[in-house]
Amino acid sequence: MPTLSREIRLAARPSGGPTPSDFELAEREIPDPGEGELVVRNAFVSVDPYMRNRMNDVKSYVPPFAIGEPLTGGAVGQVIASRNDRFGEGTWVVHDLGWREAALSDGRGMRAVDPALAPLSTTLGVLGMTGMTAFVGIVDIADVQEGDTVFVSGAAGAVGSIAVQLARFRGARVVGSAGSPEKLAWLRELGADGVFDYRETRTRDALREVAPDGIDVYFDNVGGDTLEDALGAMRLRGRIVACGSISRYNATEALPGPRNLFLFVTKRLRMQGFLVFDNNDRFPAFLAEVAPRVADGSLRYRETIVDGIERAPEAFIGMLDGANIGKMLVRVGPEP
Ligand code: NDP
Repeated sequence: MPTLSREIRLAARPSGGPTPSDFELAEREIPDPGEGELVVRNAFVSVDPYMRNRMNDVKSYVPPFAIGEPLTGGAVGQVIASRNDRFGEGTWVVHDLGWREAALSDGRGMRAVDPALAPLSTTLGVLGMTGMTAFVGIVDIADVQEGDTVFVSGAAGAVGSIAVQLARFRGARVVGSAGSPEKLAWLRELGADGVFDYRETRTRDALREVAPDGIDVYFDNVGGDTLEDALGAMRLRGRIVACGSISRYNATEALPGPRNLFLFVTKRLRMQGFLVFDNNDRFPAFLAEVAPRVADGSLRYRETIVDGIERAPEAFIGMLDGANIGKMLVRVGPEP
């Protein structure tokens, strides 16, 4: 029997910050699976900052979303009908056909997950793409060592909150910035040694207070002025992890870069960007460190969950605006 599925399509390319009218809710009939295919019913779909860039019609590392087509993105759900050898009926899978309630797939790019190990939602956050991003940045790119002072911007978000804790586990002193008193309180609970609200205090001034001796590692989720100010606070031979630039994703024109790049020379700095998708070989090492810590509670995570596929645009817009603490997710179907 065909399955009815509601999905969110891109109605228009946002100019600046996205608005609800850039999205439309539509219904589609998902046919029964053919040979090699399966139907998955999603429980959670993810909304992530990188999706904003895919809404622009520009060449990037992933092609732009098409107007009138459903958006895609991380999702986790259960196979409800299958003629696929790898993923039988009942299997829970993480995949890329998000922004919809159900999908037909040939199983490519899917990964089976065991919902008995941790709450299902974690497969999209702390034990999924965003947790892995924090791991690659802190462990592989920055190689954080005991005694380092690490500054994480966007520190109360999905990636940032895990980066803060992974740096702490390595014996670093960690300072973080975020955009509300509630977020700062949570960062203190996570063990951050210094926190500040970048909406209240300019990063340059705040870093003088919370990291008077400078920073060895800057985990950059934000870019823009925050990056310029962090460069000013870097110590000799400091490392900068270029993870994201969320302060610029809604920009309608090219913005000026940091004005103090000569500091790379005088301070012998190193800055490296990365995309988590290039590091799949590190997934087992990531899970080996993070999953036991999630299980025993020594690594903490939060999720902000919005209910209903029709509210996915609201969740996405809210996430870009700071409405989330930890990972922003949309619940669209039954959990195990
Ligand atoms: P978050 O959960 O951190 O959500 C986004 C947060 O960004 C908001 O909650 C908001 O929090 C903050 N924010 C929004 N605008 C600004 C601004 N102008 N200045 C400072 N902070 C702002 O998202 P993720 O953890 O999923 O992503 C964090 C970063 O990591 C993004 O830049 C993203 O693109 C990047 N990323 C990179 C990957 C890679 O492979 N390189 C993979 C995944 C993510 P607040 O209230 O604090 O403002």
